[in-house]
Amino acid sequence: MVVVERDQGVRSSGSPVDVREPAYDVVEGLGLLPRLRDVATDVREVAFVDAVGHRVAALGTRRSRDRELEVDRTDLSAALVDVARPVAEFRFGEAVAGIRPDARGAEVIFERSAAERFDLVVGSDGVHSRVRRLVFGPEAGYVRQLGMYVATVRLSGVAQRGDPVLMHNVPDAAVAVHPAGGRPGVAFLFRSARRIDPRDAVASRALLAEVYGSLRWRVPELLAAYLAAADTYFDAVCRVRTPTWSHGPVTLLGDAASCVSLFGDGSTAAIVGAWTLAESLDGHDSLPAALADYERRHRGFAARGQRAVPVVSHLLVPSTRIGVGVRNAALRVVGRRSTTR
Ligand SMILES: Cc1cc2nc3c(=O)[nH]c(=O)nc-3n(C[C@H](O)[C@H](O)[C@H](O)COP(=O)(O)OP(=O)(O)OC[C@H]3O[C@@H](n4cnc5c(N)ncnc54)[C@H](O)[C@@H]3O)c2cc1C
Repeated sequence: MVVVERDQGVRSSGSPVDVREPAYDVVEGLGLLPRLRDVATDVREVAFVDAVGHRVAALGTRRSRDRELEVDRTDLSAALVDVARPVAEFRFGEAVAGIRPDARGAEVIFERSAAERFDLVVGSDGVHSRVRRLVFGPEAGYVRQLGMYVATVRLSGVAQRGDPVLMHNVPDAAVAVHPAGGRPGVAFLFRSARRIDPRDAVASRALLAEVYGSLRWRVPELLAAYLAAADTYFDAVCRVRTPTWSHGPVTLLGDAASCVSLFGDGSTAAIVGAWTLAESLDGHDSLPAALADYERRHRGFAARGQRAVPVVSHLLVPSTRIGVGVRNAALRVVGRRSTTR
């Protein structure tokens, strides 16, 4: 098995992601729990703060008392890469340039090394999957921008692993500081009718400065940190929907197959999808039957995350001042009820 990753190694930047059941069972089965517990955040709530930093409401982040983890994406991928090393050859700094499927498998053309044949090609290359584009067609057919953008950057300084996530809202925009296992990061999440190319660093920074330039709380300092940094992340929040996940010997996995890039348990769905695909391949002699089985068993799970998106996005980023106030008041009532029980 060959794994091709365009980055030079396991990426150094990444947001915290969740490993929830049943992905928790998968990492437990792989023997990764001790390693992941060592690096997991201990975040239990998002605390909403007003323009002067006063806590106005809070939202619990845990769905299970002890069977879920929040881990930096970098730490999670490093652990998964290490556990797969005995059975896979990792080629970092390489990318797929072309795929020629035929009746016996596929010839894969790489950017740097010579072409090779494979029985199966799995496109697990994220929201903007090149494998999907090469085999299924242009991104526009499968990826819909949802009118929101997200920008993240790592901050200097340290945080306590159990610190809450701090979030400040104005209508249609949120900014959150996440302790991220001791190495804090900031995320800007906002709606905008403006359509920019998220890969255009000048346009994305200008839009971010326009939306957040006049906000209070710690926003001036956080915005300045983003604008001064070289290693930043910026993208439109996208929904990926593909009518089928497989074309001949090529199949899609994780965000490439189905996701809302930011909301909706994407890392859990990616891990569970990989496990289901492996089980389906193991349980069927014929590749088409195995891929049909993978899709039949995993589609429902992947779709669950997409259904939650409208609610989660309006909870975290209400569109009006009244919406922000109602959200905070409702969370205070829920918080009072759960502490008096
Ligand atoms: C800001 C942010 C916050 C998030 N927070 C959460 C969260 O709290 N909880 C949660 O569950 N999920 C969260 N997610 C979503 C989660 O990160 C994804 O759902 C998950 O990482 C999907 O995994 P994946 O392997 O499918 O894709 P990715 O993690 O995107 O990995 C794709 C990999 O493919 C590589 N690649 C891309 N193109 C090529 C190419 N042409 N050739 C070779 N390699 C290539 C990339 O370098 C990358 O390493 C968040 C996402 C973002 C952006």
